[in-house]
Amino acid sequence: ASWFGHVEPAAKDPILGVTEAFLADTSPDKMNVGVGAYRDDDGKPVVLDCVRQAEQRIAGSMNMEYLPMGGSVKMIDESLKLAYGEGSEVIKDKRIAAVQALSGTGGCRLFADFQKRFMPDSQIYIPTPTWANHHNIWRDAHVPIKTFTYYHPESRGLDFSGLMDDIKNAPDGSFFLLHACAHNPTGVDPSEEQWREISHQFKVKKHFPFFDMAYQGFASGDPERDAKAIRIFLEDGHQIGCAQSFAKNMGLYGQRTGCLSILCDDETQAIAVKSQLQQLARPMYSNPPLHGALIVSTILSDPELKSLWLKEVKGMADRIIGMRTALKENLENLGSPLSWEHITNQIGMFCYSGMKPEQVDRLTNEFHIYMTRNGRISMAGVTTGNVAYLANAIHEVTK
Ligand code: PLP
Repeated sequence: ASWFGHVEPAAKDPILGVTEAFLADTSPDKMNVGVGAYRDDDGKPVVLDCVRQAEQRIAGSMNMEYLPMGGSVKMIDESLKLAYGEGSEVIKDKRIAAVQALSGTGGCRLFADFQKRFMPDSQIYIPTPTWANHHNIWRDAHVPIKTFTYYHPESRGLDFSGLMDDIKNAPDGSFFLLHACAHNPTGVDPSEEQWREISHQFKVKKHFPFFDMAYQGFASGDPERDAKAIRIFLEDGHQIGCAQSFAKNMGLYGQRTGCLSILCDDETQAIAVKSQLQQLARPMYSNPPLHGALIVSTILSDPELKSLWLKEVKGMADRIIGMRTALKENLENLGSPLSWEHITNQIGMFCYSGMKPEQVDRLTNEFHIYMTRNGRISMAGVTTGNVAYLANAIHEVTK
C-alpha cells in the first residue's frame, strides 16, 4: 500500500496561477496585473534606496544569532510607534503585547491561533470580499468564519449601510477583521467620518477590531494618514489587535517582516498575552528571521533613513495614483461611455474594475493581459509604457 496515494493535488492558488500563465506567454505585449507587488515605471521590481543603505550599515556588524522568541525588541518598538503614533499613551503605559511576526500573513495567523486558544468559542467576521488568504488563515486556525457586507457592486464603492447593519446584527462581543487602509481587493476604504461611526458602533456592540494593516503608507503616500482608522479606534478607547507588514511599504516581501500587536487592559495583562504569543510561536517556527527586522529597525530609528523611506513610500504611492488617473483618462479619450470614476476613487495597490470573469478571459486570451477573474487590476503593474494598451483592451472587452 502507498503511504501517500490518497493525497490529491491541492487547488491552485488563484493569484499564483495567473503568474504561471503569464510566464508561459511569449507575446511581447503581455502584461501581468495579477500579483500585488510593486513595480517601477519600467515594470521592474524595486529595492528601496533606504533599504540598500540600511543593509550597508548592517553589513559587517551583523551576527547570525537567534533573535529572542518574540523577535527584535527594537524593531517592535519602532513598528508600534508607526501604527499607534509616536507619542501614544498606550505605548507609554506599556499596554501593548507585541511580537515580531512572519510578515502580515504570519501576524494574522498568530492572532487567529491566539483567538482559538484563549477564546475557543469565538468567531471571526471578515468582509465580503476580502484578501482570499484571510479565509485560509482562520479556517486553518479552526476559528469559524462569518462574513460582513462591505462592497457595493453597483457604485463600486462602500456599502456603508449594509456594513453598519451587519455590525449591529452580529452578536455582542464579536471579533471583526478590518483592513486598516487600502482594502484588498476592492481599493475601497471608509471615509474618516465613516470610520468614526464604525468605531462608535463597535463600542456600542463591544466588538473587538482586528486590523490587518498590510499597506500603511502605500495608500495615500503618508503612513500617518493611512493609520487614521487605528488612531480613531484608539481615541475611542478600544482594545484592538493589529497585524503590520513591511512587505509593501518597505518592499521587504521575501524577508517576511511584520509585527503583531494586541492592546491590553494594562501592563500586567500585556506581559501575560505576549508570553502566550511567544508560546504559540515556539513550536511553529521558534523565533522570527533576523535580517528584515534589522533593516526595519535601522531605517525607522535613524532620522535620515526614515525621511528617505517616507519620500520613497510616497514615490511608490504617487506613481500608482498617477497610473489610476492615466488609465481613467485613456478610457475616457477612447470614448468609453461607461463611468470609470471608481478607478481614481479607489486607493492602494488594486483597482476593482467591475469587469466580469468573461471579460477578464477576453483580456487574457485576446490581449495577453493577466489578472484574477474577479476583475482586480494590480495598479503596480501599470506603467507609462503600457497604460494605453491596457485602456484600449479594457475598452474593447467592455463595449
Ligand atoms: N493582508 C492583506 C490584505 C494583503 O493584501 C496582504 C498581501 O497581499 C497581506 C495581508 C500579507 O502580506 P505579507 O504576508 O506578505 O505581509
